[in-house]
Amino acid sequence: MSGRTLQHVETIDALRAARAQLAGRIGLVPTMGALHEGHLSLIEAARAENDTVIVTIFVNPTQFTPGEDYQSYPRDLNHDLALLEKAGVDLVFTPSPDEIYPEGFQTLINVEFVSLGLEGERRPGHFRGVATVVAKLFNLIQPQIAYFGQKDAQQVVVLRRMVRDLNFPIEIAVCPIVRAPDGLALSSRNAYLSMAEREAASVIYRALRAAAAAYDKGERTPATLRSIVRDVLHAEPLAVVDYIAVTEPHLLRGIHEASGDPLLLSLVVKVGEPRLLDNCLLPWWLNDRAGLTATLGA
Ligand code: AMP
Repeated sequence: MSGRTLQHVETIDALRAARAQLAGRIGLVPTMGALHEGHLSLIEAARAENDTVIVTIFVNPTQFTPGEDYQSYPRDLNHDLALLEKAGVDLVFTPSPDEIYPEGFQTLINVEFVSLGLEGERRPGHFRGVATVVAKLFNLIQPQIAYFGQKDAQQVVVLRRMVRDLNFPIEIAVCPIVRAPDGLALSSRNAYLSMAEREAASVIYRALRAAAAAYDKGERTPATLRSIVRDVLHAEPLAVVDYIAVTEPHLLRGIHEASGDPLLLSLVVKVGEPRLLDNCLLPWWLNDRAGLTATLGA
């Protein structure tokens, strides 16, 4: 046990009152709940680096596009609270949608270029929803640092841009992807996979590693790296490729010529219903906290 008591607030008034009592350095970890080891790695980093750790759990309706799984997104608050208590979190904020978006709400934050490609292209409005809710959390909580996962690499790039453009005095920390033993990136949506799909999904990590191995041997041509990934994925009948993209990691511009600069290899593969997101920086050694922080959206 951590010896800390977890304080749970659901309203903005209660959050502001709790925040007013806090001194020292505050680390924020925003989540949508259904917590797993990936979330816990962000919390662990925050615990090690701050006086107070605040976690938010909010399934944010504005970042789901029509037809997505907003209603059915996994929710298990009691289990989440037990994990947070055990992880030594000080304060958790679990607002209702009406608390965040009261009647008459009209202000949305649009981060332009870096929101347009990749996930932004497939999920129009997604990053507007993300940027808006994160800006509100930043204003309400005023942390010194906020922790996000490499898992959602474009989200990190978008939020770093927003923080700079709107002068939030907040550092964005980027934590590496936490994976299952077979390499699948942990995700709340993995709960949607059947047993056969779950097994098949390990092909995604093998595909990333195949590209990284080719990169190590000197392969730098984006089209070739993408076709290496595609070939590995195509060998798995349950995997349906949505996209495989090679971009530079600062502005997420597509790269077409061979280059010695770091690359972000992003992909989405459907295995059954869920779209499984994954990515890596190339060269592979950049995929640690220092490499990610210096590279993604820097
Ligand atoms: P979510 O609850 O899915 O919105 O995720 C909350 C935060 O946890 C985001 O910053 C995610 O990028 C991060 N996250 C999700 N899955 C992982 C993972 N497997 N490893 C590291 N971070 C993760």
